[in-house]
Order: sequence, then structure tokens, then C-alpha cells
Amino acid sequence: MRILVLIAIGLLLYVIIGNLLRKSRPPSPKEISEKMVQCQHCGLHVLEHEAIQSGSNYYCSQEHVDADK
Ligand SMILES: [Zn+2]
Repeated sequence: MRILVLIAIGLLLYVIIGNLLRKSRPPSPKEISEKMVQCQHCGLHVLEHEAIQSGSNYYCSQEHVDADK
């Protein structure tokens, strides 16, 4: 009977450690470097590299840059 308890505990530890290892995996560098900015005209959130910068403001499209002038 004792051996069954040991096997059960072993399996439980195996599952818990497996879950911890999966959760502690760091996010990819791309996810960290992608910064979101907000369009000054309509409030839409866009990736910084896709946004159009005008002065210190960001816009989602050229139309909104012109509309906010
Ligand atoms: Zn916009």
C-alpha cells in the first residue's frame, strides 16, 4: 500500500514541476519590444512602428495627421 502512495506523490510532483517550468518560460523578445501608442485623433491603439509620428503625437493614419492640424 505504501508504494502506491509514493507513486501517487511522484506523479503529483511530476505534474506540478512540469506546470511550473512551462509557466516560467520568458516571453519572446518581440513581445517585449512591441510598444503600443495611441492615435491622437481617434484614440486607436497601434504598434509604434506602424504609427505615424507628427511632433510628439502619434496617429494611426495619414488622414488623421491631416485632420488634427
Ligand atoms: Zn486615428
